[in-house]
Amino acid sequence: MNKHNTLPYKFLLFDLDDTLWNFKENSKAALEDIFDQYNLQYYYATFDEYAKSYEENNQALWRLYGKQQITKSFLHVERFLAPLRPFGILDTSLAGKMGTAYLDRCAEKTTTMPHAIETLEYLCPKYDLSIISNGFGEVQYKKLHRSGLSSYFSHVFLSETIGYHKPKPEFFNEVLCELGASKEECLVIGDNYEADIEGAMNFGLDQVYYLPDKLSIDNIVLPHPPTHIICDLLSLCVLLKY
Ligand SMILES: [Mg+2]
Repeated sequence: MNKHNTLPYKFLLFDLDDTLWNFKENSKAALEDIFDQYNLQYYYATFDEYAKSYEENNQALWRLYGKQQITKSFLHVERFLAPLRPFGILDTSLAGKMGTAYLDRCAEKTTTMPHAIETLEYLCPKYDLSIISNGFGEVQYKKLHRSGLSSYFSHVFLSETIGYHKPKPEFFNEVLCELGASKEECLVIGDNYEADIEGAMNFGLDQVYYLPDKLSIDNIVLPHPPTHIICDLLSLCVLLKY
């Protein structure tokens, strides 16, 4: 039961990457493919060294993309060019090809988060489930289909289609309008505090902060406490038992 009112939720809005689809693991496997395919061991002694450089750049670029300060095409090229620039490589065409190859490889990977399928099996007959994602459209649909997740969802809301990214209120507003849902009927589930949790909170939606790397929800200090915190997706079935 929704602790903020007496109505049960009707619509569950799930983030995709690292909430249902195991982005960390799948992305690492795809990046390893790129490391081998492009002989990056010529520049980096180990894959881990390359992955560290890629990750640092990628995270900084996604923050800028989330704030709509850089374009998707810039992010696509720059995250592969930046780790090579210290070695004098300035070939944007090469970096673009690596970016495309990485996305193709990524979309082929199918590892989901622990208990994702079991949880969706339980929730699907009881709620209207949607995906809300800032990820690129050409890969998000492939990921959903190939990993067996797509059949659980009535809607897939992508920021690049809506024109606003999470955490912008315009993003959540568009989702609710499309669903014909009130704020009280919706619950947002995600692993990113800024985009998913604060975004939903500021728009007036209840939230479940999913922390898959934690063993316990004790001693988690946040600027604004979410409605719920879970470390295992199965906890959602308990939370939403009615
Ligand atoms: Mg995520």
